[in-house]
Amino acid sequence: MTERPDNDFDRLTADDLGATLTFDLSRPGRIGCTLPALDVPEASPPPAELLREELSLPELSQLEVVRYFTVLSQRNYSIDTGSYPLGSCSMKYNPKINEDVARLPGFAQLHPMQPAESTQGALGLMHGLQRILAELTGMDEVSLAPAAGAQGELAGILIARAYLGANGGGGRRRVLVPDSAHGTNPATAAMAGFEVASIPSDADGNMDLAALERALDEDGDGVAALMLTLPSTLGLFERRIVRIGELLHAHGALLYGDGANMNAVLGRVKPGDLGFDVFHLNLHKTFSTPHGGGGPGAGPIAVKAHLAPFLPTPHVRQNEGGFVLTTPERSIGRLGSFHGNFGVLVRAYAYILSLGAEGLRAISEAAVLNANYVQARLRDAYRLPYDRRCLHEVVFSGSRQKAKGVRTLDIAKRLIDYGFHPPTIYFPLIVDEALMIEPTESESKETLDAFCDAMLAIAREAEESPDIVRAAPTRAPLRRLDEATAARKPVLRWRREG
Ligand SMILES: *Cc1c(COP(=O)(O)O)cnc(C)c1O
Repeated sequence: MTERPDNDFDRLTADDLGATLTFDLSRPGRIGCTLPALDVPEASPPPAELLREELSLPELSQLEVVRYFTVLSQRNYSIDTGSYPLGSCSMKYNPKINEDVARLPGFAQLHPMQPAESTQGALGLMHGLQRILAELTGMDEVSLAPAAGAQGELAGILIARAYLGANGGGGRRRVLVPDSAHGTNPATAAMAGFEVASIPSDADGNMDLAALERALDEDGDGVAALMLTLPSTLGLFERRIVRIGELLHAHGALLYGDGANMNAVLGRVKPGDLGFDVFHLNLHKTFSTPHGGGGPGAGPIAVKAHLAPFLPTPHVRQNEGGFVLTTPERSIGRLGSFHGNFGVLVRAYAYILSLGAEGLRAISEAAVLNANYVQARLRDAYRLPYDRRCLHEVVFSGSRQKAKGVRTLDIAKRLIDYGFHPPTIYFPLIVDEALMIEPTESESKETLDAFCDAMLAIAREAEESPDIVRAAPTRAPLRRLDEATAARKPVLRWRREG
């Protein structure tokens, strides 16, 4: 370790800190805690050749550690510091009552291997959540085991595969996916060993029904399922969903629903009434549990009765003696250790009960109203590829700005200068220069107006002074990153120099 004459920590500005590692601040012998007195006989260390030399840990005082991480955390953009209109991700407010409930010692200090007799309250909560989600989706049974939306999808498709296999449909090798689906849908189908066939969208943004009919006519016996995102990633409701379900069922195939964005239709429509056999939810979107940075999620799956015997294990049931963890008769097995992300389930349960039935209905009303408000305010400045009322999000195209040499990436970076987290960009893939904006139901009209004002100002800048937009962000600690190098040659590990 190179010796440094003195501690330069206090001379670092907040900006320097972002590029500084704790290793750079390390001083030999500095320590952050008080070690207890030796209470065992002193022994000499093992021979030097057995000791790892490269195990270098930074040496810092406690105050330095606290300041270092506090300053870093202040540079993080979060839902608690600003609005976050990241389309498809439902970055809405996470009410603090959820945190209070999740921290109750009776929940927070449980051990997953405790006997069921001593965890009846927790199992009762899981059972209650299963019943509520079954009611909201209009399905018969729910599993809370999947730890993410994508894992819920995988569970759902494995259930479909097992069901078909048990009912003479084991030879069905294809899964159909509309081209407006979330990317995890085709990835899931491929991971479950299926061949993926894409169904195009029509001019209105619905699935092209004629293309679906053709695919089923050509190879109806080979199709296992259709995976449909509802609402679609265009933020649109599939108007012929009932007909689509009938077509699939007539050919012996199943209808899978991706309901990660159910905040768009909560309390308005039950997917079970629309013909879905299996449907997943994202508690970390629709039901306000925290997410981002890969944090813990939960992607429960809801199924109709014919698929219930195939649900993952463990599954909570209630019998005369109380709540029990069971393995459904033909279960696809475990998705992970223990019971899923229990802390997330507690938060979602608290959210649902604190809102009540009317409050849950109000979510979809506000989510849809807010997205349509943004659509109305921005429609003259940005091209609207599907000009119809949207649900929880609105997808614009930056193609007009692109003609002036300003790309959607530039618009997104410029929004950072105006203090907003950018929306999702370049997705869905079927929209050129896509800007996918999901304001969520938690933002006020004042915040929506400030966001729209910024988007309109950027549209004007793109006309009048495009260089400003192309040079953005100018107010962020770091400017444009070399994303290709970051992806291809990531530096993920610190190594001691020399
Ligand atoms: C977010 C999302 C997913 C994936 O959920 P994860 O929890 O990130 O795995 C799947 N489908 C849709 C429509 C989504 O918005």
